[in-house]
Amino acid sequence: MTNRTQTSPGLLERLAAGPVICAEGYLFELERRGYIQAGAFVPEVVLEHPEKVYELHREFVHAGSDVVEAFTYYGHREKLRVIGKEELLEPLNRNALSIAAEVADESGTLLAGNICNTNIWVPEDKDTHAAARAMFEEQVGWAVDAGADMIIGETFCWTDEALVALDVIQASGKPSVITFALNAGGLHDGADGVTACKRLADAGADVVGLNCSRGPATMLPVVRDIRAAVDCHVAALPVPYRTTPEHQTFQSLADTSCGCTPGTGSFPTALDPFVCNRYEMGEFAKEMHSAGVNYLGICCGAGPHHVRSMAEALGRRPPASRYSPDMSKHAYQGTDDVIPDYYKKLGKTRK
Ligand SMILES: [Zn+2]
Repeated sequence: MTNRTQTSPGLLERLAAGPVICAEGYLFELERRGYIQAGAFVPEVVLEHPEKVYELHREFVHAGSDVVEAFTYYGHREKLRVIGKEELLEPLNRNALSIAAEVADESGTLLAGNICNTNIWVPEDKDTHAAARAMFEEQVGWAVDAGADMIIGETFCWTDEALVALDVIQASGKPSVITFALNAGGLHDGADGVTACKRLADAGADVVGLNCSRGPATMLPVVRDIRAAVDCHVAALPVPYRTTPEHQTFQSLADTSCGCTPGTGSFPTALDPFVCNRYEMGEFAKEMHSAGVNYLGICCGAGPHHVRSMAEALGRRPPASRYSPDMSKHAYQGTDDVIPDYYKKLGKTRK
């Protein structure tokens, strides 16, 4: 059981007072750093290189995240079955939670347990529903043991699966955040984002919204509609990629200027040319917050610079702001008196 001594405000108190930032995207960032394999995307790094998980949690908190999300995403029973390592299920989950708890406690941030799409749900097969519920129950149970302040259920593509996740979270007594990964044509069950979120809100979720799949441009209009349709708090955590009306999700982006990516296209390992810059993520945060969306973050592809930019756009000065850009002392583009005039002139002609 937990020996956490957290006394800082909980999720709902923080949301009542203003925006809450939640950095996500651990799978993508640790894959990029060479500690997770793309494909199965199982967070074995939690056991094999825990120091890397500590490090990324701390970087995101330094950049302004109010939530430390235990890295149990795709660390569930089905994923571990897929890689033939079900015996790692419990140690992986408990380790992830204990790493995140340590960072949350040292920084006064919130510890979030995490569950997600099970990849076994079949609408007409009740056995899969029971199996999914059991998967949620074991993971939520470990999060409760670790003293989680809240539970995030994310990237759901079936409304009914998300409702089961919510039911399990509610039974734990922890605040719930439920987000859907919305494809261009809606969820697998045909629901649009508003309808799905409305059902979760009606069932008593504390926060509903979207995460993953869509970039800022194609997530923003849907989240505005969700905001208008529900009374609870609303979440928006896009992927930092330039999705478009034609390519609404990052899975559908295709880099036609490059002929050397593997057969699967740009997703998930060659999305680099589509990455949003920090200013675009800051604008997204500002626009969403002014629309009444209080739970903000970034999913797959997020870097600490994106998170800091969001925090600053919301009027914050996280510790990383100590190193926010100041070009006045740049060798060529600087405007400060300490920069020689000769070099300022060179800067103006330099292309
Ligand atoms: Zn994601």
